[in-house]
Amino acid sequence: MARIFTVPAAFEFVTTKSEWTVATARILGWRERDGDGVLDDEHLKAEVSDGPFAGRVFQLQLQQLPEDIWDRCLTAGEPEDIENICSGFTPLVLVADKHPRPSRNADAWQMRDEFIRMKPTVDDVIKFLDKWGRWKSSDTELLDDVIRARARLRNELLLPPEQWLRRVPWFMGHMSRIHSYPYSKIRTEKCEFAITMATAIDFLNDVKFKKCARPDCNNPFEVKSGHGQQFCVQYCGHLVSMKRNRAKAKKARESGKTRFRKEG
Ligand SMILES: [Zn+2]
Repeated sequence: MARIFTVPAAFEFVTTKSEWTVATARILGWRERDGDGVLDDEHLKAEVSDGPFAGRVFQLQLQQLPEDIWDRCLTAGEPEDIENICSGFTPLVLVADKHPRPSRNADAWQMRDEFIRMKPTVDDVIKFLDKWGRWKSSDTELLDDVIRARARLRNELLLPPEQWLRRVPWFMGHMSRIHSYPYSKIRTEKCEFAITMATAIDFLNDVKFKKCARPDCNNPFEVKSGHGQQFCVQYCGHLVSMKRNRAKAKKARESGKTRFRKEG
């Protein structure tokens, strides 16, 4: 029988604040592998085409393309065809300035909660990144990637933990040794990875999530044991009961009116 043991480890989420703006981008072709002139067939080179950071070059993974364009890139004959195939793909990108302000320790759980509650609009995503820093890889991110990640997370928190834990890339590889207790640490500046870490820690600690019962909210929230909590925040419960009371009052008023008419 295997013996299960618990290894203590520190997890640190650090924000590097930048100012983000929105712009459009275009695909330039395959990315060249470092220095050797060989084309990388998993990454593309893209360029920000407008706004204050026009001309900034960044890389995209092939799988970040819409599926039909991705397929056509895979079967493209000549390397030069890529620009052609992708000419209609001009995604919105979020671009950070190059002067991140000093980093500070932050709470990954609070960040994840704000991410879940964030409206999936350009303005709200920018507000989120201005506050929390880097998303995934760099100072240039596809807007759709962030918005899709939010939709995915809202579903994933409601999955059976074993299903989620089976699917995520394991995080042990990110652990580094430190010289005092707890002797290992995971540190990240990337919101996407910090959300994965927070969720893994929750699921490994048997935290359960539930969907908010207010139909136009649906936020997943942590179930605290012993409470039959139905709403993610009190405000949602308040709105639902207000709506119910208004409906009841309306019904009472209407039945009052019909009675009055009959009597008259
Ligand atoms: Zn709610």
